[in-house]
Amino acid sequence: MSIAQNLTNIRETLPEEIKLVAVSKTKPIKDLQEAYNAGQRIFGENKIQEMAHKWEILPKDIQWHMIGHVQTNKVKYMAAFVSLIHGVDSFKLLKEINKQAIKHNRTINCLLQIHIAEETTKFGLNAKELAVLINSEEFATLKNVQIVGLMGMATLTDNKEQIKREFKHLKTLFNTTKETLPEITILSMGMSGDYKVAIEEGSTMVRIGSSIFGSRNYH
Ligand SMILES: *Cc1c(COP(=O)(O)O)cnc(C)c1O
Repeated sequence: MSIAQNLTNIRETLPEEIKLVAVSKTKPIKDLQEAYNAGQRIFGENKIQEMAHKWEILPKDIQWHMIGHVQTNKVKYMAAFVSLIHGVDSFKLLKEINKQAIKHNRTINCLLQIHIAEETTKFGLNAKELAVLINSEEFATLKNVQIVGLMGMATLTDNKEQIKREFKHLKTLFNTTKETLPEITILSMGMSGDYKVAIEEGSTMVRIGSSIFGSRNYH
């Protein structure tokens, strides 16, 4: 099926208020252009230089989301244009994003990534680290970053109950975080294989790659 057709099919299953991030990592410009022509405006990438390259070439009304792990020394390559950074999981990184945002005289929107999966390889804060970060005095001094929500990835498993439990946990943390940061509105959870469960559990933003663009050869 075509990219445009895949997009139509997915949009039909999404409640209207759910934001769709089309995860285009590793995919060629022509695939992104096809999705753009079908009306898609939010794209997710996991490598900063690849995203910057695509940003240079493609139309400027695209919102670019960085969904991958961010190395502090690479923030500068996306600070001018990135629309949302999903994977913020340390104060050090947040401080660097703030610094680069100041250089560009803008505010950069960020999600704090929470570790909800049982795999140890996935990045993210645990509940305690999250609480420490958002309650720290230093956090309050960062004026050019805006935390707009939380993000998480469930374990890659066929066990629906486990995935559901992990998303529930993230939703609970979202609710408690909202007591400290009432302005947060985004809960980024759900990918091709688990976005329906994620929406049932309160996701407001899904990140879908392979169901739109087809499978990837590498991650
Ligand atoms: C690759 C990726 C996705 C999309 O995965 P699909 O299974 O292809 O939909 C979503 N979120 C993150 C963080 C990713 O790295």
